[in-house]
Amino acid sequence: KKPPLLISACLAGKNCRYDASSATLSCLAELREHYELIEVCPEQLGGLLTPRPCTELVKERVLTKDALDFTEQFLSGAKKALLIAQLQACNIALLMERSPSCGSHTVYDGTFSGTLIEGEGVFAHLLRQMGFAIYTAQTIEVLMKANTAWCESEPR
Ligand code: SF4
Repeated sequence: KKPPLLISACLAGKNCRYDASSATLSCLAELREHYELIEVCPEQLGGLLTPRPCTELVKERVLTKDALDFTEQFLSGAKKALLIAQLQACNIALLMERSPSCGSHTVYDGTFSGTLIEGEGVFAHLLRQMGFAIYTAQTIEVLMKANTAWCESEPR
């Protein structure tokens, strides 16, 4: 049985980014061979449409450039996506970097000037609090190695 892996839906080919684009991983097929992918887009789960306004984290809030506040939708979507993962006993996630939801190491700085800073989005923050191991496109090789170790430790 393949282990479950929570994945940002845009990395898995879904056109769910704010501008209705995706960020499909080149190694998606290989990933599917090793993991049961659980694709979630927390922003869509929070009720936001696609396309939708670009948002950034500004202190504790998620705002558009015009200061529209989407924090509640982001929090609600993150909780729903977490529940989906928990129902499948999943505690590993592969998340899209830089997103105000899924970014786990880098996010935009809230000035809408394209400036990146260290930080994490609403969903990544919740997953980390819940003890998930979080990977990104930059650490997929580590994720694959973790999977091999998991397979080898399974009784035959
Ligand atoms: Fe991708 Fe996450 Fe943004 Fe949805 S919320 S588009 S899954 S980065």
